[in-house]
Amino acid sequence: MNHILLTIDVEDWFQVENFKNYIPFSSWPSYELRVEKNSHRILDLLDSITLEPSSLLASQLSSRKNSPKASFFVLGWLAERLPGLVREIHSRGHEVASHGYNHNLCNQQSCEDLKKDLKDSKKLLEDIIGSQVYGYRAPSFAINNDILQVIEDCGYLYDSSYNSFAMHERYGRLYLSKNENKGVAVKISNNFYELPISNIKFSIQNSKSRAQNLQLPWGGGGYFRIIPLSLFKMGVNSILNKYKAYIFYMHPWEIDSKQPRIKEASCFVKFRHYVNLHKNAYRFSSFIKYFRKDSFTTCHKYLTELG
Ligand SMILES: [Zn+2]
Repeated sequence: MNHILLTIDVEDWFQVENFKNYIPFSSWPSYELRVEKNSHRILDLLDSITLEPSSLLASQLSSRKNSPKASFFVLGWLAERLPGLVREIHSRGHEVASHGYNHNLCNQQSCEDLKKDLKDSKKLLEDIIGSQVYGYRAPSFAINNDILQVIEDCGYLYDSSYNSFAMHERYGRLYLSKNENKGVAVKISNNFYELPISNIKFSIQNSKSRAQNLQLPWGGGGYFRIIPLSLFKMGVNSILNKYKAYIFYMHPWEIDSKQPRIKEASCFVKFRHYVNLHKNAYRFSSFIKYFRKDSFTTCHKYLTELG
């Protein structure tokens, strides 16, 4: 049985790292929150789909609705303002996890500030849903092995911040070659796992006939909006064939084609942020329906089942 782990980073369009030069943190309160409506669209889209996992018998299929479940990494700044949304995510059977408090990059904070951010954002979400929060995703995937240790020390069961695509300037690096792999999970200690974003890995021979390992970004976000859907699905199938699991990420603003535009941003930044927003909800839905015979489960449940 293949597992697909959908992960949603719950932040609004004006909170992304790409726009930090134009939208300082101090101005966030002046913007309309569009994330609530966009997150509800995602929740409704997930609830509208009926999965047909091959592990269920036909009699079980007819007797219960089986819709995809996802893990929502919620920014603390938003959780404080929209606690009803956080409760809604939880009550619809999805996982609530932390995306930190104010989207400061982990590698730009002191260790003390990072610890406070990790602990406070976890506690804030736990108080809202009345249940334990297990997972963390670092803003912009800016992670390293030292930061990973701090995340474990702050009481999380797993981190999902490693994007191994090396050509993005902000993504961090993790060295995990000595750790045990279980499906897509990497065991860091008895009580802590890394769930890296899924990419396609392959080797080529370079001019000196040495094997060179390369990665294609296949985990979602802007790459999902740019790569043709039929090709994207083929890539996901190749990852599932190898690992029996696949980790996907997106943001609520990625289905919001009517969000305000930042005209001052560079052409490259604008392309990365705005390309194909208008098609993305349909693509997301088509993607899930294509894999409807697989299990769409939360990160925490996946780890629990792995044991
Ligand atoms: Zn983010």
